[in-house]
Amino acid sequence: MTALADIILREIQANGPMDLGRYMTLCLGHPAHGYYMTRDPFGAQGDFTTAPEISQLFGEMIGAWAVDAWLKMGAPNPVTLVECGPGRGTLMQDALRATRAVPEFHAALGLHLVEMSPVLRSTQARALQAYAPVWHDTVATIPDDAPVILIGNEFLDALPVRQLMWTQSGWMERVVGQDGHGGLALGLAPAPPHLVASLPPAIPEKALNACIEISPVLNLFLEDACKLLLKHAGVALFIDYGYPQTACGETLQAVKSHQFVSLLCSPGEADLTAHVNFETVGTLSRRAGLSVAGPVTQGAFLNRLGIAQRVAVLSKNATDRQKNDMNKAIDRLCADGAMGDLFKVMAIFSDPALNPAGFE
Ligand code: SAH
Repeated sequence: MTALADIILREIQANGPMDLGRYMTLCLGHPAHGYYMTRDPFGAQGDFTTAPEISQLFGEMIGAWAVDAWLKMGAPNPVTLVECGPGRGTLMQDALRATRAVPEFHAALGLHLVEMSPVLRSTQARALQAYAPVWHDTVATIPDDAPVILIGNEFLDALPVRQLMWTQSGWMERVVGQDGHGGLALGLAPAPPHLVASLPPAIPEKALNACIEISPVLNLFLEDACKLLLKHAGVALFIDYGYPQTACGETLQAVKSHQFVSLLCSPGEADLTAHVNFETVGTLSRRAGLSVAGPVTQGAFLNRLGIAQRVAVLSKNATDRQKNDMNKAIDRLCADGAMGDLFKVMAIFSDPALNPAGFE
């Protein structure tokens, strides 16, 4: 039993079974025992590896994308550059190094990071100190006095989801309760009517015991992000595991040391993520008044941005080993069956004419 399992059990004893959103919030973000709050989980020694940790090429391409977007916005000065969930700060470090050739962009940008983990904030501070970042707990406190470019790689998939299940008695909600031996167990409770009311009227693949995931936290995040992007001008880029259309299916998963583990076995010690419903992201953004591009696959996006040409340029002065490493990285980032098609990319933006790079 982890220390957090004990805390969760006590909350269940006091308040009754908890929904999975609350469970995920505690597992990832409990101030003392939450997964992200206590560790740096990335890389071979950690629990999982993300695209920027695989190769500097990833952050470099995102940097080129951001400068292109900034130029298309009319090169505003100042511009607020935001990253949500920056991890080790690697993506932003690579993006900003690769864009040094555009000093006007560097002169204009103010860097803001949305990060809940004190451990990762200090890693980000070391990686990005030259850019004097300002940290935020939520996107709601980012200053809204300038146009905004916002990036989020594997951020939305960390936002808590709840699961509703279609049963003979109608919609029920998956909850975490107590088993007979003082441990945690999954169960079902009547679904709150306001959650059922928020579901789309027609749900593909709805059948007995089918499960649908919803994320009220993601919806609130998007509401705040859209408001920020609409205040002056703005564009956001989201890259994540996800599906293009609302569908039934359980995607909430726990990963520890690069292996899937059970959701309940080690609260606070495994990463919990859920695939992102990009239809919801698109619908809510359009409803708020933004335009939407994508989702497209990460492979198609990086290829359109010219990742192969970038490798060709870097290969001119590279050793055989470096060339080999770059080719392996391109494969992992772009190939189908790897991150290339599992990950999707979507942009939302205030000016319908913006035409952000990488989508067609
Ligand atoms: N973008 C990085 C890290 C992805 S992991 C990369 O690609 O390597 C998820 C990141 O989001 C971590 O930095 C984590 O601490 C942060 N995070 C997760 N949930 C958050 C929340 N609700 N608020 C702020 N940051 C959060």
